[in-house]
Amino acid sequence: ATPVLSARDLRVWYGSKRGPVAAVDGVTFDVRPGETLGLVGESGCGKSTLGRGVLGLLPPGAAVDGEVRFAGRNLVGMPAKDLQALRGPELGLIFQEPMTRLNPLMKVSDHFEEALRTHNRGLGKAQIRTRALDALRGMGIPASRYDSYPHEFSGGMRQRIMIALALVLRPAFVVADEPTTALDVLVEAQIIQILADLRRNFDTALVLITHNLGIVAEACDRVAVMYAGHIVEQGDAREVFANPQHPYTQELLRSTISLGTTGLHFIPGAPPDLADPPAGCRFHPRCPKAMRVCADEQPPEVLLPTGSRTTCWLPVPDMTTAEGRLPLEA
Ligand code: SF4
Ligand code: MG
Repeated sequence: ATPVLSARDLRVWYGSKRGPVAAVDGVTFDVRPGETLGLVGESGCGKSTLGRGVLGLLPPGAAVDGEVRFAGRNLVGMPAKDLQALRGPELGLIFQEPMTRLNPLMKVSDHFEEALRTHNRGLGKAQIRTRALDALRGMGIPASRYDSYPHEFSGGMRQRIMIALALVLRPAFVVADEPTTALDVLVEAQIIQILADLRRNFDTALVLITHNLGIVAEACDRVAVMYAGHIVEQGDAREVFANPQHPYTQELLRSTISLGTTGLHFIPGAPPDLADPPAGCRFHPRCPKAMRVCADEQPPEVLLPTGSRTTCWLPVPDMTTAEGRLPLEA
């Protein structure tokens, strides 16, 4: 199927005292109808910035370039008013903190009426009520709570109300940024299930930002692994989990799997300072397989026979001199 959204060489940077910081530095990916792309990586790798960047929801002072193609238009550089009109009915965002997004002075019903009135002008009050109650029921919120205020719900219920609000407009593309982080495991499992149903029913394309690889394995069709502002590996989720190609993905998976079995495995070192990233491959100071070439030259993105893409020198056979392939001395 044709992608709903295509990002090409997307860059997002901020000014800082120490110079420009590229939080997202040249990222390319597609999301197709009904597909969920899991976006994973350590904190600070640029996941949230990427999620907001594709929707044009960045704080003032952030600069963006590259291309984000949606319904034949480039969202990058689109006038704010046009972008605003797409947000809600076409583009959705589910945030981490539900309480900050629900107006404490408005009943749940008021939130739905406002959202549906703004974007579906033709709907009458009864139709709005039907659609809102459907969306809420899908999230396990009973109709009897329609006229309650946000503070009358638990954190988990508020988060589900937020998701219902984002999805009642049936957007074609949704970014969910750590939607389950603040929730307990049971609620988390419910939400993942509900997101899967909604995708099936409305063909919504979803980018699911999370540091929980278990959720990605369970709920995502494809996965993109971010490190220091780059996507270092992307592909079919099952393939990437079964057969990770990038050393960072391998380490990330090892660190997760061993949590449940042989104890903790941490990836030694820390992600780089994005104001002054290392030359060559950004992962080279932490990479157990680093070669000389990795310290000097940025690796290319390689399309593998499995359909995965990895940004690494390892699968490039004639990449450099034999000397370049020597292990990098620590
Ligand atoms: Fe490791 Fe080199 Fe691949 Fe980077 S390019 S991940 S340093 S092997
Ligand atoms: Mg984040």
